[in-house]
Amino acid sequence: MATNLEIIPINEWLDCKEHPLVISGPCSAENEEQVISTAIQLAQINNVKVYRAGLWKPRTRPNYFEGVGSKGLAWLQRVKEETNLKVAVEVAKPSHIEKCLAHGIDILWIGARTVVNPFSVQEIAEALKGVDIPVMVKNPINPDLTLWMGALERVNKSGIKKLVAVHRGFYSLNQSKYRNPPMWEIPIELKRLVPNIPIIVDPSHICGNKELLLDISQKAMDLEMDGLMIESHIKPWAALSDAKQQIEPKNLKLLLENLVIREMSGTKEFENKLTSYRNQIDEIDDELLDILGRRLKIVDEIGQYKNEHKITILQLKRWSYIIEDRLKKGLKHNLDRDFLQKLLELMHAESLRIQTEIMNKNPEN
Ligand code: PEP
Ligand code: MN
Repeated sequence: MATNLEIIPINEWLDCKEHPLVISGPCSAENEEQVISTAIQLAQINNVKVYRAGLWKPRTRPNYFEGVGSKGLAWLQRVKEETNLKVAVEVAKPSHIEKCLAHGIDILWIGARTVVNPFSVQEIAEALKGVDIPVMVKNPINPDLTLWMGALERVNKSGIKKLVAVHRGFYSLNQSKYRNPPMWEIPIELKRLVPNIPIIVDPSHICGNKELLLDISQKAMDLEMDGLMIESHIKPWAALSDAKQQIEPKNLKLLLENLVIREMSGTKEFENKLTSYRNQIDEIDDELLDILGRRLKIVDEIGQYKNEHKITILQLKRWSYIIEDRLKKGLKHNLDRDFLQKLLELMHAESLRIQTEIMNKNPEN
């Protein structure tokens, strides 16, 4: 359900004329030298306005590097003194917030593992009451848009208006080349339901490796996302967390130079042509919906008929025939095989649902 959050746009609290806004820095602060030298190199890249570094690291298993903790706050204060970067830290509980505020941290973020837990988010929100600080809310690990929205709402209710969503990909059981597949439909739906929420894309945690970073960053730009959060380390190969996905500042610079930034809207002529394409799509969608309605009506009739004659719903032979036949025909129309397969499975599932409903309503048959 759509929600109206009171949000102050990023450019009203952060000096970021360059597009895209880039937040960068190591996954974890490890030592003072690493923090400072990474920051000095990043500060030379125009788009980078915010320096990120994890101090308290949520690790899946114990006995891994869990961050340097409060010790790193002083290093980030040095980053502020020695560069023009703002500094951002992940907070997972009220005590983290208290320490960050005491050390002049500019921006806080709530991590994916915290956002899954409304109790933790609520505690954080309570601790933020009366505080004027920008907060970024990462999506929860599981692909649950309402949980993400819920966290944004809780933080916003506490009076935080400098609010940003960070899209870092989602956990999926399916095999994927990504560490956390982007499932773009979810952030796009977030934009539809909360139109004024800025969304920053975190290609590092989506990809899990450096090879795919450019593709995802480009996609983020083409989908009109508001910025990028990319992990950077002076020696990624020696990083104590997320080593495979971090890049050197010089490679971040290269990546940004390779991004194609397209215009969000074009000339009058372009807009007219686009409108005409869109009108065609509207008409075709009307036809599609009409056809779909007619198809399902026949499914309903088949369901009644099968029910009257005590015939089972799933007819495997028929289903195998449909899949084979429609895939063959669809390929001739240049439709993608995976897309077509998914579409057919979706239609089949709906047919089964309709027919099951009919049988359940008439159990005596
Ligand atoms: C991070 O930003 O280093 C991090 C832990 O990310 P996430 O919460 O998205 O896993
Ligand atoms: Mn990380």
